[in-house]
Amino acid sequence: MAVYTGPACRRCRALGVKLFLKGERCFTDKCAFERRPYPPGKTRNTRRKLSSYALHLMEKQKAKAVYGVLERQFRRYFEEAKRQRGETGANLVVLLERRLDNVVYRAGFASSRREARRLVSHGHIRVNGRKVDIPSYLVKKGDVISVADKMKNKEEFRRKFEENTRRSAVSWISVDLDKVEAVFNDYPTRDDVQPPFNENAIVELYSK
Ligand code: SF4
Repeated sequence: MAVYTGPACRRCRALGVKLFLKGERCFTDKCAFERRPYPPGKTRNTRRKLSSYALHLMEKQKAKAVYGVLERQFRRYFEEAKRQRGETGANLVVLLERRLDNVVYRAGFASSRREARRLVSHGHIRVNGRKVDIPSYLVKKGDVISVADKMKNKEEFRRKFEENTRRSAVSWISVDLDKVEAVFNDYPTRDDVQPPFNENAIVELYSK
């Protein structure tokens, strides 16, 4: 399973936006982007004027960074989004949102998508009661996501789960704090998600 393992904060600074890749740290004053909101290796106010191609490319890089997806897989999501009815850009956002690692993060079981990916690939996550250890598994409407009993009973895990849920609850996933499970009620719309990138720029980029 190929994943980007480089420094997360560099990506936010290079792409000029907070991508929330590091969980709790992103909400504190230790956030590198808050401290130095300019590209690595540059000084303040030195962001270059970029060509339209470079700007479109940056939007794709943001999307890949947010969801932790590399090029080949991202391209597959794009092709699938194009095949589906409706707007390709919005379809792409919904497909990315359906990834199991993303749903685990959205449900509050992890404080970042990176941590969520680890929980999934280490076998701690259940979908409708069955272990699923593939982070790219696409969650369907009505699926119930839960964690292994061993993890569920850890006090530290429950404390973080409650904190995460308070911070990042979303309307399309309902969370049961007592049962430590979440139901993916419906597919979100593009407007529900409000992604930190312009999905139409990505569509344009791939159409060139
Ligand atoms: Fe980005 Fe989070 Fe690092 Fe801030 S702390 S720069 S939001 S990854």
